[in-house]
Amino acid sequence: MDYVFAPAPPVAVPVVGAEAQFAVHRIYCVGRNYVEHAQEMGHTGREPPFFFMKPADAVVVVSAGQTASLPYPSLTHSLHHEIELVVAIGTGGKNIAVDQALSHVYGYAVGLDMTRRDLQNDMKKQGRPWCIGKGFDYSAPIGPITHAAAVPDIQHASISLQVNGAVRQTSQIDKLIWNLAETITELSKAWELQPGDLIYTGTPAGVGAVEVGDTLVGAITGLTPIALQVS
Ligand code: MN
Repeated sequence: MDYVFAPAPPVAVPVVGAEAQFAVHRIYCVGRNYVEHAQEMGHTGREPPFFFMKPADAVVVVSAGQTASLPYPSLTHSLHHEIELVVAIGTGGKNIAVDQALSHVYGYAVGLDMTRRDLQNDMKKQGRPWCIGKGFDYSAPIGPITHAAAVPDIQHASISLQVNGAVRQTSQIDKLIWNLAETITELSKAWELQPGDLIYTGTPAGVGAVEVGDTLVGAITGLTPIALQVS
């Protein structure tokens, strides 16, 4: 097959303990999936789940032991961190039953749903799409993926984010409003999931702005932590 220009190489995330990498298909994100974060954003925390997407090439791969560079995006004065557990789908499907949902998971990783909060809020007020606030370049940092079998207790893991050594966000995965299996089930009603899909499952309370020069460290029990410096 000839192309009129060279196609972009697949976006790929390292896998802990493996040579082969995880090729990214789509990035789905869950909105307001922890009660206290929903409340800090002005909502009750009792809505049905809702979703938005980021382009696959918004991924910033953060290798183990590395501090990755996170370019400060254009147009914003309020770049917010949202630490999130990322589910990596290994087996696709649609209308997936809750009791089967976790069998579709390849593994898990630590991720950040970086957000141009000022632009997102402008779009919300006007009833316009969130793309410019959520789906920008370098908006989806992610660490290496750990195989699901190696983290059987992920649903009870702790999740945290530090900025310049101070804890900004901390919670437990079992405080998700829509748990991992329910999130997969609900997503698969709207889209046919494919191997390579990533699901950013939502952020706990404590979101806030970062500035150029800040260092972010995200961690989830059992997974490889991530470190980035805003540049
Ligand atoms: Mn988020």
